[in-house]
Amino acid sequence: MFSTDMLTDTLQQLIGNKTPDKTVLARLIGAQGDEAVQLRSFANDIKQQRLGNYVYFRGLTEFSNKCSKNCYYCGIRAGNKHVDRYDLSDSDILDAVRFAHEHKYGSVVLQAGERSDKAFVDRVDGLLRKIKQLSNNELGITLSLGEQSPETFQRWFESGAHRYLLRIESSNKELYYKIHPENDKHSYDKRLKALYDLKDAGYQVGTGIMIGLPFQTRHDLVDDLLFMQNFDIDMVGMGPYIEHTETPLYKFKDQLLPLNERFQMAINMISLLRILMPDINIASATALQAIDPMGREKALKAGANVIMPNVTPGMYRNSYKLYENKPCTDEEASDCVSCLEMRIGLTGNKVGYGQWGDSQHFRQRKGEK
Ligand code: SAM
Ligand code: SF4
Repeated sequence: MFSTDMLTDTLQQLIGNKTPDKTVLARLIGAQGDEAVQLRSFANDIKQQRLGNYVYFRGLTEFSNKCSKNCYYCGIRAGNKHVDRYDLSDSDILDAVRFAHEHKYGSVVLQAGERSDKAFVDRVDGLLRKIKQLSNNELGITLSLGEQSPETFQRWFESGAHRYLLRIESSNKELYYKIHPENDKHSYDKRLKALYDLKDAGYQVGTGIMIGLPFQTRHDLVDDLLFMQNFDIDMVGMGPYIEHTETPLYKFKDQLLPLNERFQMAINMISLLRILMPDINIASATALQAIDPMGREKALKAGANVIMPNVTPGMYRNSYKLYENKPCTDEEASDCVSCLEMRIGLTGNKVGYGQWGDSQHFRQRKGEK
């Protein structure tokens, strides 16, 4: 156990440190009690000092659960035959986007299962143009549509997307192949290349991992933090792994840490990354809310600065079940709006209404500031 002063010194030394002490990080990932409180409040102070007391909204549209891949952890993997597959119509998607725009969310995220067929690529391209048009170029757009060719990334960028989230899931190649089939469609090297392609295309690039996977050690998580730092990411979305009965990984459920421990580690990871990379955007993952109803707010008090309220029409949400207990699956977007602002106020933050809330790290990287 660190004394309060010792921990303050240790945390000071981690700020923006590119060669942090791995043993210290491994220990802090498992911080509990007073140590965890101090870690999180230190990270929160850094966020407030470097980025101000703003939290940015990204209206999340999960527009299709059709997926061509078979990640072992995911409830909507192609191999799960018990999923009702849906594809929102363009007008439903644009209604959801309009809702976000009218409520001054500033940005939207388009997320779906991974497809790279021509019809899909063309459709997304058309949607991007329509979103820019309907919002008079006011809405920022993040995509989370998996691995694509460099040409597709470039095309979507030119049509208006400017941020892209593609989680590495785990930076440990061996672990990657324990949670994905080892084949051409699920290649670690391709994943990594896609992340570099996104940077080349000009996006603000976000990655992330799942925390509490079977076979994952604390050292893996330390290496994940260093991976994100070395890759020089602009944003991150990371959260706890939550098992789903109809997935291959479910058979390892008895080896998992209790949900609450996965949750605590995820919050500690957010705090540590905030300290290591003070000016990136850190999203408060929806999976946190599946474990603790106030989970996202806890992350916002521990260094996160982005929240992704779901604006997908309620009737489809039940079919986008990546894991058990996914929150808000029976709500309409408007049900969530009224309480969100109050909840964010309770974290000592204000909503950055109508702003894109771009990653300051990206601006630095591009030499804009
Ligand atoms: N298909 C795209 C992709 O994989 O990047 C975007 C949608 S995918 C559902 C978004 C993220 O959900 C994945 O990157 C993964 O980390 C997360 N996810 C999937 N199954 C999960 C689970 N059982 N627990 C926690 N997160 C999960
Ligand atoms: Fe498809 Fe993404 Fe789920 Fe993998 S994580 S099965 S790519 S939706």
